[in-house]
Amino acid sequence: MPASFSAYLRDIHTSLGGLNDGVVANYIPELALARSDWFGISVIATNGKTFEVGDCDRPFTIQSISKAFVYGLALEDRGRDYVNSKVSVEPTGEAFNAIVLDEVTNRPSNPMVNSGAIATTDLIDGKDAADRLKRMLEMFERYTGRSHDINVPVFLSEKTTGHRNRAISHLMLNFGMVSDRIEETLDLYFQQCAILVTARDLAMMAATLANGGVNPVTGVRALDSQYVKDVQSVMFTTGMYDYSGEWAYRIGLPAKSGVGGGITAVAPNCLGIGTFSPPLDAKGNSVRGTQVCEALSRDFGLHVFSAGRPRYDLARLLETPDE
Ligand code: GLU
Repeated sequence: MPASFSAYLRDIHTSLGGLNDGVVANYIPELALARSDWFGISVIATNGKTFEVGDCDRPFTIQSISKAFVYGLALEDRGRDYVNSKVSVEPTGEAFNAIVLDEVTNRPSNPMVNSGAIATTDLIDGKDAADRLKRMLEMFERYTGRSHDINVPVFLSEKTTGHRNRAISHLMLNFGMVSDRIEETLDLYFQQCAILVTARDLAMMAATLANGGVNPVTGVRALDSQYVKDVQSVMFTTGMYDYSGEWAYRIGLPAKSGVGGGITAVAPNCLGIGTFSPPLDAKGNSVRGTQVCEALSRDFGLHVFSAGRPRYDLARLLETPDE
């Protein structure tokens, strides 16, 4: 048994820090500037206790992780039935940026692939573009307890090179699946992907979901309680790109990753995990972040369907003061 939970995190940070597999994303030119040795792990329990090691204050762009939380806001703005009529919740074996819609309903498969995410962003209310962005930033602030900036070079980099996302959007417009303010929505989507977060923010966002939608430190409700299970269900089935099934099988936690190198993972009613390490595996998930979640799930029995006896007693370790 490790001496404390912090000691446990320091150990896995040291051992996984030596893992040099994976490649930093470069399809958005600005992302290629990230260093491959940046590595942070933050864990926040539903009582607000925070444990962290490494680069937990270093800002990076949230990228696809935003999709799960914007989906929650769309559910609040439009209600479940309307959102479901525009975006399905079916896992797909296609790439995250595939140009594919359902042949019968024309819906994108789920809110975590780019087509579904752009259709979801289209549903965000606001009187104009600035107001929609403001509402989105306020939503993230409720989850993290702090305000967020946008990395403008990343936003502009995506806006100028995101031809594929533009193509997907116009296909959806052709089928009437998105409104005709599509350029405004695309800007909003590129901005949401360029929001700056830290590993600690990702842990707090996950801890908020783990805590039924209420930020465990500020006490602020971030998401209407009726939608907490919806957001986590799509994270569980589709959050980790084309590795989602294996992730559910091995790690068993609702999670979402992004090409910026972040992962947010929820252990319901227990804790939130946030990791940051830019090198990605072939499926697009952070190599070290995946390993961190696998270790935590295995060692503490966090898999949502876990029935066995965990290796370590989490409740006891969380209460043990750091030496
Ligand atoms: N902004 C990215 C895109 O639309 C998100 C990619 C990701 O993190 O999966 O391509």
